[in-house]
Amino acid sequence: MAGKPPIMPVLFIGHGSPENALLDNPFTRSLTRLGKELPKPQAILCISAHWLTEGTSATAMDMPKTIYDFYGFPPPLYTIKYPAQGSPKLASRVQSLLRPLKAGLDASWGLDHGTWSVLRHMYPNASIPVVQLSIDFYKPPPHHYDIGKMLAPLRKEGILIMGSGNMVHNLRQLSPEGREAAPYDWARKFDTFIKEALEKKDHDAIVNYQSLGQISAMAHPTPDHFYPLLYAMGSAGKESRISYPYEGYEYGSLSMRAVQFD
Ligand code: ZN
Repeated sequence: MAGKPPIMPVLFIGHGSPENALLDNPFTRSLTRLGKELPKPQAILCISAHWLTEGTSATAMDMPKTIYDFYGFPPPLYTIKYPAQGSPKLASRVQSLLRPLKAGLDASWGLDHGTWSVLRHMYPNASIPVVQLSIDFYKPPPHHYDIGKMLAPLRKEGILIMGSGNMVHNLRQLSPEGREAAPYDWARKFDTFIKEALEKKDHDAIVNYQSLGQISAMAHPTPDHFYPLLYAMGSAGKESRISYPYEGYEYGSLSMRAVQFD
């Protein structure tokens, strides 16, 4: 039994503005703390809101490049490198776990800011290999939850599964009052609904979040930042203990709530 890795927790991280990559604030400090407290992963599988594809692919290169997939931010953000290795081995393991779905092995993406703006706080040495899994944007919510379930065995193999999005994400409603603005009513209501459903283990309610109507349409005018939560929930299952390494809002319309499933 020697060397058997512990069952890894699963994370959902609300990443917010790319600028968090460079900031020292309560949110980024919560990431630093997580990196120190969690069992050390063999590798990380990240499902980022920022890699949307037709079909599903896993990055399979030895050295994924750092991608700057945002516009109009301060120049220092475009000089950050997150030089973690990839893991072709983990990418093929993911491919086999997802069968009969035909997942691709990708050689062109890399690490986008949904991944590196978080990991550079958690693991500043970039010493843990990282694979990204894309989100098939042509598929409905249950599909993403089901893929999460298929990934669950990785937890016993020392792999940290991390969804990176935001529990509420509406860029059209960023408050003119800035980062510290109080959350809008609809943002707080949606965030609370998801939190309570997680605690009740009511995954169906979360997968069917669109049935909330207007509130869900405001919280997620597009579903990209919500889907990573479905992967995290699916892979964590309903038996996991829930905790929140961070809770808060940015710009009134982004929930920064992080969820840890143990
Ligand atoms: Zn984002």
